[in-house]
Amino acid sequence: MASDIRNIQLMTCEHCSGTGWEPIEGKGVRPCRCRQSDRRKHLLEVARIPKRYEACSFENYHPQGNNFTADEVFRSQSHALNDAQKLAREYPVLDIGLIFIGPCGVGKTHLAVATIKSLIDKGISCLFYDFRDLLKEIQDSYNHVSNTTELKVLDPIYQTEVLVLDELGASKPTDWVRDTMTQIINTRYNDKKVTIFTTNYLDETRNPNEETLADRVGVRLRSRLHEMCKVVEVKGDDFRLKIRENRGRKF
Ligand code: ADP
Repeated sequence: MASDIRNIQLMTCEHCSGTGWEPIEGKGVRPCRCRQSDRRKHLLEVARIPKRYEACSFENYHPQGNNFTADEVFRSQSHALNDAQKLAREYPVLDIGLIFIGPCGVGKTHLAVATIKSLIDKGISCLFYDFRDLLKEIQDSYNHVSNTTELKVLDPIYQTEVLVLDELGASKPTDWVRDTMTQIINTRYNDKKVTIFTTNYLDETRNPNEETLADRVGVRLRSRLHEMCKVVEVKGDDFRLKIRENRGRKF
């Protein structure tokens, strides 16, 4: 059925008349744009971008704070947007990942999703995973009742060109969690694959009772993250609360 639909699409394509090759005057042929848009559609379908974030883009991320360069919230959010756009624009020449660090609701996931959507537009394979869901899937794959094996879960994580791991450090840091995180991150590092992380845990906290990123992921993994990523601190207040306040709703 799917191939019937694709055949009909190819037959009706005004650029290639169904051949899949688009003639370029004086230059021969090139793969038709209808195939490229098929590939983009497919990449988007398999990227696992959560519905809630499907509409996130660079265009609809608006740095908050006072639109004034000395304002640290505005400046950090503008820099975060620039770093994300730069990666999307310059990948694969620029092959260092990003780790967005900051409190809840400042748009870290928004920017991570906007980046992979932009890369998908360029035909690059990308995958989104909430780290907690990934760890759960790996745990479930040990279950004999489940049909997935651990390798089946991890294979796309290792294969995809660019990976988003959302909410790093959110899972209780047991030995198993740390070992599994280390294995995943090290494998991607060794394969020179770009990973974009988001985390609510800062490198340093003013309050000694607050946990740091190193407390959550371990000192060695934190240092590996610094090696493979540019650290991008995003400051500000929870955007969701602001929207609710603007609507005049109380929670
Ligand atoms: P975080 O990952 O930092 O917790 P999210 O990316 O989940 O934050 O952002 C929460 C919601 O607020 C999302 O719907 C996101 O699109 C929106 N949002 C956050 N910051 C901005 C911003 N500066 N401009 C536009 N939307 C934003």
